[in-house]
Amino acid sequence: MMQIEQQLRTDIVEIGRRLHARGFVASNDGNISVRLDGDRLLTTPTGVSKGFMTPDMMVTTDFNGRKLTGDREPSSEVLMHLAVYEHRPEITAVVHAHPPTATGFAVAGIPLDRAVLAEVVTTLGSIPIADYGTPSTSELADAVRRHIRAHDGVLLANHGALTVAHELFAAYYRMETVEHFARISLVARQLGRERLLSREEVNRLQDLRGRYGIAAPAPICPPGPEESEDGLCQALEAPSQSGTRLVDVRSIASADEGLLGPDAEIRLTYRELTALIADAVRQLR
Ligand SMILES: [Zn+2]
Repeated sequence: MMQIEQQLRTDIVEIGRRLHARGFVASNDGNISVRLDGDRLLTTPTGVSKGFMTPDMMVTTDFNGRKLTGDREPSSEVLMHLAVYEHRPEITAVVHAHPPTATGFAVAGIPLDRAVLAEVVTTLGSIPIADYGTPSTSELADAVRRHIRAHDGVLLANHGALTVAHELFAAYYRMETVEHFARISLVARQLGRERLLSREEVNRLQDLRGRYGIAAPAPICPPGPEESEDGLCQALEAPSQSGTRLVDVRSIASADEGLLGPDAEIRLTYRELTALIADAVRQLR
């Protein structure tokens, strides 16, 4: 076996160990793959904990997912990995896991598409949600296909997350970034407010991509109602407010729509609600 392949097998074992140690996978969840050459893919086997693999467990397949070598069966999600390699010739590694906070957003149907963290805007851009597809079927591969041309990180509805890169560890680190971003977003939302980076600041950050040689698969979409996740740009929520780098979204919303939009939510404690009802009953008398 070639030395490069041996190293890649060892790297996959290490990444599996980290995914498991960080709680990004439970039981036999998750899978990792890497391009070996133009005809062969090296992938994790199905039915084993990714935290306790050994280099000899790996399976090689062709780019139709047919097994070439290995004692075990290839990952059940190999179709999803193949969809990535088909549409992104420059990508050599794919990592799939179920990190709990990012997967929580995927279950709630909330994409990670707000301009909140400068380094995420510069690197991953936005992280959309691919439609639900039954795991291990071409349905899931097709759902991923719709987003993977423009994104290096995708949430999978009611399932997990997928990250891709030009190199194995880079794909793994993107998975860490997706989960870290999800955790920060969750805390900000629990605190009750998120200040977004302004469109102007997002444009400035996007310019940094070029200066630092960050390879993003697609530019951030220009603002407008036709922003589409299916297109070849990354839809990112970033309100325009010239001269301002951080925008308090609530102030924008109240300026645009009056104090409360049609669907704005009011939260009342049980005590406040009871008082309101008592007041209304009193006025009826
Ligand atoms: Zn999965």
